[in-house]
This record gives sequence, C-alpha cells and structure tokens, in this order.
Amino acid sequence: MSLSSELFQRAQRTIPGGVNSPVRAFKSVGGEPFFVAKAEGAYLFDVDGKRYIDYIGSWGPMLLGHNHPAIREAVIRAAANGLSFGAPCPAEVTMAEKVAELVPSMQMLRMVSSGTEATMSAIRLARGYTGRDTIVKFEGCYHGHADSLLVKAGSGALTLGVPNSPGVPADFAKYTLTCEFNNLPQIQQLFAEQGNQIACIIVEPVAGNMNCIPPEPGFLEGLRALCDEYGSVLIFDEVMTGFRVALGGAQAYYGVTPDLTTLGKIIGGGMPVGAFGGKKEIMQHLAPLGPVYQAGTLSGNPIAMAAGLAALTEISKPGVYEALTEKTAQLIKGLAQAAAKHAVPVSFNQVGGMFGLFFTNEGRVSNYQQATRCDIDAFKRFFHLMLQQGIYLAPSAYEAGFLSLAHSAEDLKETIAAADYAFSAL
Ligand code: PMP
Repeated sequence: MSLSSELFQRAQRTIPGGVNSPVRAFKSVGGEPFFVAKAEGAYLFDVDGKRYIDYIGSWGPMLLGHNHPAIREAVIRAAANGLSFGAPCPAEVTMAEKVAELVPSMQMLRMVSSGTEATMSAIRLARGYTGRDTIVKFEGCYHGHADSLLVKAGSGALTLGVPNSPGVPADFAKYTLTCEFNNLPQIQQLFAEQGNQIACIIVEPVAGNMNCIPPEPGFLEGLRALCDEYGSVLIFDEVMTGFRVALGGAQAYYGVTPDLTTLGKIIGGGMPVGAFGGKKEIMQHLAPLGPVYQAGTLSGNPIAMAAGLAALTEISKPGVYEALTEKTAQLIKGLAQAAAKHAVPVSFNQVGGMFGLFFTNEGRVSNYQQATRCDIDAFKRFFHLMLQQGIYLAPSAYEAGFLSLAHSAEDLKETIAAADYAFSAL
C-alpha cells in the first residue's frame, strides 16, 4: 500500500472524510487523494516520491510558484520577531497601503484570515450600511461557506433562497436571492420588483467556481448601473481573480469599479489571509469607527503580512501578467490541438492566468446551466489519465485551472503530451 493510501485510511478515523476541506477528498472524480510532502515551483511531490505538475497552485495563491524564495525568506525573517501580537504591527500598514495602491477602489481595507471571512464581513457591512437585509448572488458562484452564501435559488431568480447545506436556517437563507450569471435582464427584473430592499449584489467578476466563466460584455457594467440606481452595494468577490487576471484584479481588467472588494489567496502568498475593502464612506461604518462589528484575533498577523507583502512586491514587477497570460494561452492552444487531433469536443475559457476546460460540443460556455451540461464522466476519466502521468488538475469539473510563473515551456510541453495521450485514451 502506498504511503498516501495509508495516510488516507488513518486520516478518515479522526478527520471527517479524511480531509480538512471537502474537494480534497476526490469525491467528485473518484479514487483517493495523494498526500503532499513538499512543493517547489510548478511541482508537488507526494509522500511516495511522485512528482506532479500542479495546475491548482493551492487553489490560486501560488501565482509565483510554490515555495518562492522571496516569500519563504520574508516569512523566516518575520518569524524571528514573534508569531502573533494581537496588537497593531507596521506590516499591516504597509500592506493596506500596497493593496490600496494596486486596487484603488479599496480606499480603506481590513485584513482577515480567509476568503470566507472576507465575503461574510463585506456582506454584513453592506447590510449594516444600507439598513437592508436581502442580498443577491449568482448561480454557480461560490463565496465561501458563510450561512448567507451557502444558498441557491429554488427555481431560478425571484424565488426565495433555499439553503444548500443542512445547518443553514431557511429563515436566514430567504434573504439570499439567486440570479443566473451573465443574465442581465433577469437581475434587472428582480431589481425592478424589489431593488429598494436589496443591500448588495455579490459576484465573482470572472466565475471560477463553476469552472472558469468570464462575464459577457456589459454584464458587470449592468450590475454597476443597477446598484447605482437602487442604492445597493456592488461587491466584487475577487478572492480568486484578485492579482490573478491582472495586477489590479478583474475590476482593472474589465474597467468596472465595485463599492467593495473581497480578496484572498494571492494576497497572503500562501499564508491564511483575506481582506475586504472599498469606499471610505462604507468602510467607515465598521467598528471601531462605526456600528458594524467585525474582528479577528489573527487579523493582520505579522507572518501573514510579511508573506503577502513579499508576494505583492514580486507580482508588481513588470512583465508578470504578460508572461502568465502568454503561458496560459500556450497551454490552452496545445490542449485544444491535442483534443482536436483525437476529435474530442472541448471548449476553453481564459482570463489572464486562469482557465477552464469543458468537455462539451456546445462551444463557448457562459453560464452555470451550460457548465453543468458538460460531459462530467469524460472529465473524470481525463483527470485520472492526467494524474497517472503526473499532471495534477483540480479534482472537479467545476473548478478553474491556475498557472504560475514557475511553469516552464518544458512543463507545458509535458502537459500537452500527457493530454494528447489522455484524449486518445478517452
Ligand atoms: N470567494 C471565492 C471566489 C472563492 O473562490 C473562495 C474559495 N475558493 C472563497 C471566496 C472562500 O475562500 P476561503 O476558502 O479562503 O475561505
């Protein structure tokens, strides 16, 4: 038995499902997860010594590649001075200034310790600021596991939200309405009927949790216009897209400015970090300035700030996004050619360093319904054929793929060759 298998058996005795976050268990693709011993550059190495070219990058944070020396050294330096203060530290100030410089709509911001905390806090703030309870999200968008956000529509928009996890009270979920991503007329109708009660729209400006689905031209602009008209707060959840699709995030890429932004992943360089921020006028409602409560013992943690600042410094260097976008485009081109060679119908989406591969003959995928119509069985087989060859894709057909600057031309070539075989064997 492999060491990974042994560990997985042991883990299941004391950790629910053997994992600390469900998607890691490989439930949706079948089989067993491998356990990671170390990570370096574009690679993961499992406890049995097998090397994988990694297209998940810790689900996004590893834009510079794993174990980047600048980040590692910043962490070691910071650790020499203590691990947590529970009091203000200088790196928090530098971090806030750096983020505000890179994402100018974040005039003020708060650090938190995860993406979930960022979105949960942004929503409380939007509700506190507007004095309204109802929020709107989109089908297929994931914003972490806070109660308000683990909700999907009963039968499309204009119905009350129903919880999609036991433990979320129905009375609570009814304040979350769900619309179709990229369907502007639908949310316009919703606002026409009850816009005056809507505290906020929260959206992944590029959806990354139903595979990768970019916004149609005019969609984000339309959301902006609705929020302006009805006095609702527009929240861009850039936990995934922030510092990924462009240095200034999706808001810079598409030129649409939200009122609040949530960040995570890359902002911590691999440490547990998130942030939310936006217009001063709204952020000033947070305690201790205002009445909306939000707090965190480990928020602004000195080690996390050191890692995040090192990451942001590296990615601010010229040419980073051009290189990342080019590498991603090259990968997609090679995968598309390999699929075409074996007459496997696929479709791709790409925004900067983020991509999606769909097993579909419908062409471009632009919403959740289409994403769920894709051939999931083909994906599962493809996933395992790639894994056997040492290529690690996200173990779900509904996750985006991520490249890093550490992926070399040789890595891409190896990946495309593996895909050529996998497509032929499907
Ligand atoms: N928002 C988005 C867009 C995400 O992709 C995620 C996690 N993948 C979250 C929020 C939640 O972040 P975390 O897992 O750090 O709580």
